[in-house]
Amino acid sequence: MDPQQARIVIVGAGQAGARAAEALRAAGHRGPVSLIGEEEHPPYERPQLSKAILIDRVSNPVLVLQHQQWSDLDVALHTSSRVVAADLQRRVVGLANGEELAFDRLLLTTGTRVRRLPELDNGPLPVRYLRCMNDALALRQELQPGRRIALIGGGVVGLEVASAAIGRGCQVTIIEKAKGLLSQIGSGSLGQYLHRLHASKGAKIVCDAVAKRSTSRGLELDDGSFVPADLALAGVGVEPVTELAQQLGLDSQHGIRVASSGATHADGIFAAGDVAEQWSRSHDRWMRIENWANAQNQAIATAKSMTNLATAYDAPSWFWSDQYDANIQVVGNPAGGEEIVRGDVGAGRFVTISVRDGEVVGGITVNSARDMAVLRRLVASCKPVRKSELENPALELKRLLAA
Ligand code: NAP
Repeated sequence: MDPQQARIVIVGAGQAGARAAEALRAAGHRGPVSLIGEEEHPPYERPQLSKAILIDRVSNPVLVLQHQQWSDLDVALHTSSRVVAADLQRRVVGLANGEELAFDRLLLTTGTRVRRLPELDNGPLPVRYLRCMNDALALRQELQPGRRIALIGGGVVGLEVASAAIGRGCQVTIIEKAKGLLSQIGSGSLGQYLHRLHASKGAKIVCDAVAKRSTSRGLELDDGSFVPADLALAGVGVEPVTELAQQLGLDSQHGIRVASSGATHADGIFAAGDVAEQWSRSHDRWMRIENWANAQNQAIATAKSMTNLATAYDAPSWFWSDQYDANIQVVGNPAGGEEIVRGDVGAGRFVTISVRDGEVVGGITVNSARDMAVLRRLVASCKPVRKSELENPALELKRLLAA
């Protein structure tokens, strides 16, 4: 069969699914393409959910593509549709309404769902989660001046919501299990900076503690303390949605394992975005990469492979976070090497560069976005670098690329 005529079904209409559908057409795919999503909204941009939507600047989702563009691309977009079954032998997926869609090639962009806290879910204090547009709109209603909000988890969700909630006049306490904020990035300088930033805006920060139980007045923590609160929001990470992958017999214990082409081990079955477990050179391990840039770019690369164009995706992970007026960006694996700090952590403008075996494996910019372009290229290029050069504040980073 002409691969350009294959019937392609994409399950999951988030950033990855949408960009893959678009990229299939850009790569010249002529066969039918169906994109199936559970939400009632067409694919939309998620970064605004914990930022602009909460601070009231936007009320409608920013769509990845407008309605007309989907029909111009001749992509059959199924919203409010849940795929509940997938059969490798018959090569069909089954929708919750009983309909079946046949495929020659299948792309799973099923993403992640929030990790829940069952010990708090049915307690007397309302506990919210933030993953989709409707969650964000509902949360915004609840962020009223003077309300006491307990943010469980000092990761990206917790910190971005803290910034929005304080901007809306709420009283915020951040409760983090690890010893510092955004600890998964593994940078002491960043943790220290974020602690000071959030405290200076009025957030209370409790690290090294977890909420054990709720009362109608707040949360009891395992260190014996009590956090008064009217509402809790849990941002304690996500888990991959792999039920269909399991039905298909794919390797999906920690996400759906894919090659750099996006292919799984099953013929004609691919995965992309948050759900895909890929090899990360900077982390030196298999991992899922949960961010917007990966959802978009790894999905585009996978779409090309699905049309038989040779592709190998290995861009380092990159994300940004806006908190108050601060812009924080992270590339690769800052915890994977020795950290060199350039700039002034106390003044809130600095760059960290992590070096392993003479190569840059990760870096962070805080209010220094211009340096991130260089850092991303340094991590991707594996160029040999000398620590002494990086420690020289007079050296412009971009010179390292030219060297
Ligand atoms: P996250 O970034 O993984 O952070 C979760 C944090 O909660 C971790 O520090 C975790 O500590 C901590 N934690 C876990 N259980 C806890 C508990 N019982 N009590 C207190 N703290 C606890 O996850 P997230 O913030 O929920 O974000 C979810 C997803 O959204 C991620 O995929 C993220 O990339 C994405 N997102 C990205 C952005 C952005 O790129 N700017 C913005 C919003 C959301 P341990 O690590 O020690 O478990």
